[in-house]
Amino acid sequence: MNSNDTQGGAIRRIVIVGGGTAGWMTAAPLAQRLANHPDVPCEVTLVESPEIGTIGVGEATLPTIRVYNQALGLDGADFIAKTQASFKLGIEFKDWGHIGNRFFHQFGDFGPPLAGFGAHQHWLRLAQTFNNMPAIENWSLASMMARYNKFVPPSEEKPGLTDAYSYGFHFDASLYAKYLRDYAVERGAVRIEGMIVEVEQHPESGFVTAVKLRDGRRVEGDLFIDCSGFRGLLIEGTLKAGYEDWSHYLPCNSAQAVPCASAPQLTPFTRSTAKEAGWLWRIPLQHRIGNGHVYSNGFTTDEQARRVLLDGLDGEALDEPRQIRFVTGRRRKSWDKNVVAIGLSAGFIEPLESTSINLIETAVGKLLELFPDRDCNPALADEFNRTMGIRYESVRDFITLHYKLTTRDDSEFWRYCANMAIPDSLRHQIELFRETGRVAIVDRGGFAEPSFVAMMMGLGVTPKRYDPLADRFDIRAVHGHFAELRDMIAQTVKRMPDHGAYVAGQAAAAN
Ligand code: FAD
Repeated sequence: MNSNDTQGGAIRRIVIVGGGTAGWMTAAPLAQRLANHPDVPCEVTLVESPEIGTIGVGEATLPTIRVYNQALGLDGADFIAKTQASFKLGIEFKDWGHIGNRFFHQFGDFGPPLAGFGAHQHWLRLAQTFNNMPAIENWSLASMMARYNKFVPPSEEKPGLTDAYSYGFHFDASLYAKYLRDYAVERGAVRIEGMIVEVEQHPESGFVTAVKLRDGRRVEGDLFIDCSGFRGLLIEGTLKAGYEDWSHYLPCNSAQAVPCASAPQLTPFTRSTAKEAGWLWRIPLQHRIGNGHVYSNGFTTDEQARRVLLDGLDGEALDEPRQIRFVTGRRRKSWDKNVVAIGLSAGFIEPLESTSINLIETAVGKLLELFPDRDCNPALADEFNRTMGIRYESVRDFITLHYKLTTRDDSEFWRYCANMAIPDSLRHQIELFRETGRVAIVDRGGFAEPSFVAMMMGLGVTPKRYDPLADRFDIRAVHGHFAELRDMIAQTVKRMPDHGAYVAGQAAAAN
């Protein structure tokens, strides 16, 4: 018996409220790590209500999803087959900086660092010295692969000059949740179907002690994970943790989503196309394309937004568009007493850079890192809230940057975005880059320097100055190195398989 157990302090019953992507992404690693422990077994119970259902969107991810999948020991090809997944090398942005503007936000760098400097510093110097320097995108493998619809994973053993890229996935959100559900249940998680109608609390501590279902059943627990979606059943409904509203920075508050038939080419990237009062997403899967329109209903009507969505489809709509409303922001405390909110119940920032699933991965990882005893020491909650707060704010700033840097003035919406007040942290970031070509990294686990470089330069910010230390290298040698690297990238991409063929091969290997 464990000493902790003798003191009666170990968590023995975890109750997860909600079975959307967040609920099952939480249940799977908790079941894997805790459910069958020989000394300190812990029940992992998930309650979900099919009557309420899930949000049913959330299909594009960041490369960190691979770390999450690997930690569960998921088989790559099986995952591709079962979730209808495709590979994602980044996001193509159209009409964002101005109408006709097109650029790619890639996963990975613009070639490897040269003599200890980020490639973009040398590129800026070359662009200021030589006429007609090709766009920096030409030095990103991920961008070039996306341009030619190619895919092969980078070599993990011996990454070299031509491996400076990364990738995430697009997948069918409901199939992914089901995949994780099977995984969690096989490892001992218990699934309960039912509608929670009441939450019981300890009269003195205020800790949640049980949730009561409509049919009279009670589910007791020591630790409750609130994955109930926007409603935040426990964290807000019961504990009134409060919500910080960021709509003044990010005015979109609505979305409509609709799947459509596949196009002939399976593209290895998400597309984001700016529209008069928001933007369209296009997420290619094996069996269909996921589409949506994110917009502000203060600047357009739902009917007009629906028309813009349907007009932008690449294939026949497979359903009626579904309406979603949201308030951008985050819960003031996502861990309070013995309740930890993960997923939409903890906050939401529009899906422009596919950050929500990444925030779920981060929260689950942090919870395991700061796993409490039954008393849920408030210092653990403070640390969780502090680190998650940094992450949410850094995502908020990065997304706000996409809007703020526009030069579009063709609609009320874009004029608002160009003129709106922004957080001081973002103002500093933009000024630093514009003046010096440097990037301030606030959150080490968040977007890295190449992402800021791609977005700012893509949106038309050319730094006035590059790192002066770059001037100490022979410019002809640097120019030669860039020419050679560009050639090498072009040759490497040419030899890669077509993305669609690679996906088909993976799916076939699983069957
Ligand atoms: P939900 O899916 O809403 O699940 C809530 C669960 O709680 C359900 O199972 C429900 O039955 C249960 N529940 C609620 N109340 C009760 C009750 N009283 N009793 C019992 N059960 C209850 N993220 C990305 O990473 N990439 C994307 O491309 C992306 N696109 C998005 C597009 C849009 C328009 C939106 C709104 C979100 C997008 N997201 C994206 C976010 C992503 O969809 C969510 O982060 C993810 O699906 C997690 O949702 P959830 O599990 O927190 O909530």
